[in-house]
Order: sequence, then structure tokens, then C-alpha cells
Amino acid sequence: RQPIVAIDGPAGAGKSTVARQVAKSLGLLYLDTGAMYRALTWLVLESGIRVDDEPSIAELASRSQIQLSTGDDPQITTRVWINDHDVTFAIRSLEVTAMVSAIAAQPYVRQELVKQQQRWGLKGSIVAEGRDIGTHVFPDAELKIFLTASVHERAQRRQQDLKNQQQPNVSLVQLEQDIQERDTRDSTRVVAPLQKAADAILIETDGLGIAEVTARIVSLYHQ
Ligand code: C5P
Repeated sequence: RQPIVAIDGPAGAGKSTVARQVAKSLGLLYLDTGAMYRALTWLVLESGIRVDDEPSIAELASRSQIQLSTGDDPQITTRVWINDHDVTFAIRSLEVTAMVSAIAAQPYVRQELVKQQQRWGLKGSIVAEGRDIGTHVFPDAELKIFLTASVHERAQRRQQDLKNQQQPNVSLVQLEQDIQERDTRDSTRVVAPLQKAADAILIETDGLGIAEVTARIVSLYHQ
């Protein structure tokens, strides 16, 4: 089997940017699993299905095709399509962000998307990023990283992301509150909660730049 790097952590810890950089420096594929949960959430909202209508969402998940591709644009970590709709930008909206944790907590949704994620592991060496990669999706990954940062720092990064993506500005207080709510929902759900794998290496990223974190992970990979 090909080597796998698992990068997990809470919202806004810098996982996407770091994971993509690590993949680039190591010449591996990059898999953003959050983008898959977001794409499905976008489709649920678009279809007018209620977020607590689990059977309809399960059915939608099982007949939806999600595609991801990594481009060269530094502002776009992953291009995303669901059933041929290009949702690259739409999945970053506040509406999707507010609903995604509720949908990602549904057992059938996870079962379906984890299956698709594990198929990526058969394609080649990958850097996979999410909440449960080291604990559930690829428990045998060669290298597991758990990235965190303080809520304040993560909110600041989110604000910068929104600016870069030309989305409306949101106050820091609001972003901190959103992040905290998502952390709580992601870590307290029954199926595959956000959790550091016992054998994952913890990296606290407060005050660390992308390049520094990337270099640390690349060097761990070579050890
Ligand atoms: O990483 P990102 O912020 O794009 O993830 C969006 C949401 O998708 C998370 O808040 C979480 O609810 C869900 N998610 C998950 N498991 C993953 C990746 C993301 O439950 N592996």
C-alpha cells in the first residue's frame, strides 16, 4: 500500500493550506475531506431538503457524485464539483459552513463519504485532511498529524480567508462563536468525533507560519 499522511484538527487550524503544501512538496495527492461534506451540504440546501431529514439526505448522498481536483491557484485549495455543479466557491459560504456539522454527524452520510475517501487511498500516496482521518478513514496512516490553534487565532485566519475569497466580512466575535460551536458539534457527535489519534503528533500552530508548519511535517515524513 502507498504511504498516507493524515492531518486532522479543528476548524481553522490551517489544515487545508498546510496539507496542500505538504502534498506539493512530497509530490503526493491532496484530499480535502471537509470539501466533500461541504459539497453534500450545499446540495441538501439547494434541493430544499431539511437538514434533519436523514433518510432523504442518505438517499441523496448515495446517488451523488463528488469530484475534487487540486489546481495551482494559491487561493483555491481544492476545486469541487457535485453532480457536475462547480461548487468550489459556494461550499465556503456562511450558510454551508453553518449547516455542515449537522449533516456530517449523520451516520449514513459518514459511511458513504468515508467509503469514497478510502477509494482515494487506493489511487496512490495521499495527504488526507479532515477530522477523523487518523482515527477512522486511514487508521494505518504512516504519519498522523493533529493541528490546533487557539480559537482567537483560528477566527483571525477565517476572517483573512473570507477576505481572500471576496466573501462578506464577518466580525471576529461572530467567527469565534461559529468556530466554538462547530468544535463542540464535531467533538461531541456519536460517530467518529473530532479526536486526536493516540499516535498522532500534535502541532500547536499559534504564531507559526504555513511554511514553518509545512517544513515540520515534511521533515517528520522523512524521518
Ligand atoms: O475542514 P472543513 O472546515 O472544510 O470541514 C467542514 C465540516 O465537515 C467540519 O466542521 C465537520 O463537521 C465536517 N468534517 C467531518 N469529517 C471530516 C472532515 C470534515 O466531519 N473528515
